[in-house]
Parts: sequence; structure tokens; C-alpha cells
Amino acid sequence: MKALVYDGPREVQVKDVPDARIERPTDVLVKITTTNICGSDLHMYEGRTDMETGRVLGHENMGEVVEVGPGVDKVRVGDMVSLPFNISCGFCRNCEHGLTAFCLTTPTDPTMAGAAYGFAGMGPYSGGQAEYLRVPYGDHNCLVLPEDARERQADYTMLSDIFPTGWHCTQLACVQPGDSVVIYGAGPVGLMAALSANLKSASQVMVVDRHPDRLALAEQIGAIPIDDSKGSPIDQVNQLTNGAGADSGCECVGYQAHDPQGTEHPALTLNNLVDTVKATGTIGVVGVFIPQDPGSPDQLYREGEVVFDYGKFWFKGQTMGTGQANVKAYNRQLSGLIEQGKAKPSWIVSHELPLDQAPEGYQHFDNRDDGWTKVLLHPDG
Ligand code: NAD
Ligand code: ZN
Repeated sequence: MKALVYDGPREVQVKDVPDARIERPTDVLVKITTTNICGSDLHMYEGRTDMETGRVLGHENMGEVVEVGPGVDKVRVGDMVSLPFNISCGFCRNCEHGLTAFCLTTPTDPTMAGAAYGFAGMGPYSGGQAEYLRVPYGDHNCLVLPEDARERQADYTMLSDIFPTGWHCTQLACVQPGDSVVIYGAGPVGLMAALSANLKSASQVMVVDRHPDRLALAEQIGAIPIDDSKGSPIDQVNQLTNGAGADSGCECVGYQAHDPQGTEHPALTLNNLVDTVKATGTIGVVGVFIPQDPGSPDQLYREGEVVFDYGKFWFKGQTMGTGQANVKAYNRQLSGLIEQGKAKPSWIVSHELPLDQAPEGYQHFDNRDDGWTKVLLHPDG
């Protein structure tokens, strides 16, 4: 089958790889119809992880079930399914509590929790930027989609990761009706956090970035765009909140954050959040911070180190929630919002490409080229 493989830093290629197939009785085989490029793929793409060359990327997958193992009871051949990026078992201590991002069965590193498709350090699982994908524990890891899924793939495809992730960030930030919320990052994840804050009836949603095309998308759904290349985001948020600060804040950038002057400073957004969220306010962090590996001679692993003003955070009595989104926990409700027309996450889609053009999609998305906000790939043509 054809698949997009990692070939080294900023090198990806569409190649022939061995066909995905049912390996265990509980597996489901899915023919991928839509698979998205995500900011998380860039951690591997840019060479910041120990991703092995030859591995297939892609964790934002949906498609049609073409085969089920003998131990699969619920999912049927012909179903259109969304596949949460977290691969989880459904029966471990964490999964039983809905914490499927922290599954204890599927990871290979016993000191970590959670696994994902096509990801460095999150298990051996192959990605879905390919014609077919093996889905472990298929009954648990497939969300069977409503009737209109085949025609509305650009909306439903957001269920595998970024819509639940944006929602999770607002959950971690405890966004309440009437709140003012500041969101750092107008990438796909930040825009989904803004959509989620709207759905939760926040009264004021402010989104910080510097790319005009992305800020315009935030504005399209009624958020206030804050361009940090035109002035300190701290001053701008304080002005917009009459000096009170936002009730809550969302970090949707991660350790690759740059400050407006262009120097790398991984903790900048975290410190900005402490400064722009009110005392006793709540902060959600879904932007990825890759763990530091002190044993590694490779200094790249030290990028996870942050200079965080814990003292100010403590004095302000703020609360912070972090981590990967438990996609499964939100899937059913968010799918319902799409089905009923109350959420249309496809408004951020900029490009739909055949799999063959994935390398070009990666390059433009990685450069944050104007107008390349969210790229969907269609391996079926
Ligand atoms: P992206 O790289 O397309 O978007 C990030 C945006 O942040 C860009 O538009 C960039 O201009 C902006 N930015 C950079 N520095 C900034 C700063 N100092 N202040 C404000 N904005 C700044 O990526 P994305 O797809 O939106 O993903 C964002 C992050 O979320 C990534 O770290 C990704 O790995 C992570 N993520 C986490 C989860 C999860 O489950 N926790 C899931 C998906 C993605
Ligand atoms: Zn993703």
C-alpha cells in the first residue's frame, strides 16, 4: 500500500510499504478516506524526536471499515469511523475512568502512559497517512459516525484530535458561561479551543498569534484577534479586560513557541498566561512539551526544559491542567454537535490534497505559509 513515511528531518516521502492487516482478533482494518497533517506531526517532521526513518506518520484518521477480527462485536464492515489519536485498551485503570490518553496497556515504555498512531515515543503503532490502517482494540478505538459522515468528512475528521483537544483545553481551563478566555496560538488547536469556548458561552474570547490569516479565522467566529507582533500580548489582554485579566487561559502552542522578536523561548506562553489570567484563574495547557531526557547525549531532548515563573503562578493562586486530550471521553458529544449543525470545525480547512501531495502539504504547513492552516489528505484520491 502507499503511505507517507518519515525519511529524516524535513524529509517525508510517499512510498510502498507492507499492507496494514488484522494482527489480533480485536483489530479492525480501516480504509483511510481522510487523514490530516497536525502541528504534532511537526515534532517528528522537524527532527525534534527520535522517530525512526521509514515509519508511517499520521494520527488524525477517519475512514471506512473494510475488515474486522473475529473478536470484534460492535463495529461492522462498511461503517464510517473516526479514530481517536490515542490508542487505548478500554479496560485498564485509567481507561475505566475515561482517561484514555493515559492508557496503561498500549504504551511500550512502562514509565509513560498513553499511545498514538505514527508518533515517536508513543508505542510502535503505524500511522494513518496511508491507504489502510490497523486499529487495535477496534470496538473501543473506533467511533462509528452518523449517516452524513461520508459527505461531511471535513467536519467529522476533526473528531480524531483537534476538536476534542481544543475542547479538552477549555475543560482543563474550567471555562464557564460568561467567562473571558485568552488563548495563545491561532493554529488549528487554538482555533478549536476558541470554537469550544464559544460553544461553552464564554463572553469574551481573545486569541494571540501573529499570522494574519490565522487571526482572521479566529475573528470569523467572533474571537478578538491579538497580534503579538504589534505589541505586548500582556498589555493588549489587560486593556481588553480593563486590567482584570482573563478568567481563564489556554496554551495551544507548545515548546516550539517563539517570542515576537523571533528568539526561541519555550516557556514564554506559560509565563504570558500567568500574567494575563486573573489571580485564582485557571490555565489549560495542551501545547506539547517533549520530556527532557537527561541521559541522552542529544541536546535536542533538553528542549523540554522551561523557564517558568512558578513564584508568580503560586502567588496568584492559579491552577493549571496539562496533557494529551482524552479524545474518547468527548467524542460522542462533539460528534453530536457536528451532526446537529451546532459546530462546523471545517471552517479552518485550507487545503485538501491527494496523499501523493503530502510532502508539499507538510512543507507549506511547517513554514506556516500564508493560507496553509489545516491540510487534509485523501489517500483514496
Ligand atoms: P501549529 O504549529 O500549526 O500552531 C501553533 C501556533 O502558535 C502558530 O500559529 C504559531 O504562530 C503560534 N505561536 C507560536 N509562538 C507563539 C507565541 N509565543 N504566542 C502565541 N502564539 C504563538 O500547531 P497546532 O496544530 O495548532 O498545534 C499546537 C500545539 O498543540 C502543538 O504543540 C501540538 O503538538 C499540540 N497538540 C496537543 C494535543 C494534545 O492532546 N494535548 C493534540 C494535538 C496537538
Ligand atoms: Zn494531531
